[in-house]
Amino acid sequence: MEVKIGGTTLSLVIGDITQADTEAIVNAANPSLMGGGGVDGAIHSKGGPSILQECKKIRETLYPDGLPTGEAVITSGGNLKAKYVIHTVGPICDGFMTEKEKQLLSNAYRNSLTLAKIHNIKSISFPSISTGAYRCDKKEASKVALQTVIDFIKENPNWFKEIRFVLFTEDIYHVYKQSLEEILNVSD
Ligand code: ADP
Repeated sequence: MEVKIGGTTLSLVIGDITQADTEAIVNAANPSLMGGGGVDGAIHSKGGPSILQECKKIRETLYPDGLPTGEAVITSGGNLKAKYVIHTVGPICDGFMTEKEKQLLSNAYRNSLTLAKIHNIKSISFPSISTGAYRCDKKEASKVALQTVIDFIKENPNWFKEIRFVLFTEDIYHVYKQSLEEILNVSD
């Protein structure tokens, strides 16, 4: 599914984000920035050891206590097609999301987009942050993700050429598709 909002294409695809050909991809990292399971593990394994080296530098310099939830940092993309990886940390939930968790998830998307803009990045792919090991309700998380991205596009018209959600399974793709249709119908 694809919609045009001003000069930006917002797209939803099923796939593996490590194969994405956007300039940047976003990693659903954990505060340690030292890799993990899920999409984090896939990005480090396909991207190679240089990403971890850069993450270690970030820990030694900017964030000795780890990356706080909702914040974002950037490294190169190593062996990936993407030139950059933006690492962000979503909230840990217990199913349905509290307002605080929604705010933190929104911060993760917004801070990733802001960092991309600072680095002159025009195309970016996101995974569905916090809906795997971090257990946030998929429907609620998808609404927060999409609304935050749409708000950012409206506030920064024509900055991004493409913002893509690369969704790993058909199930999560359909959740995002339904949420996007709901959001667009409401704002028409
Ligand atoms: P979190 O800890 O933020 O919940 P996970 O990696 O556990 O992160 O899961 C987040 C989402 O990423 C889940 O929907 C999961 O299915 C998905 N995912 C896992 N591997 C990939 C991949 N290679 N590309 C895109 N999405 C992925």
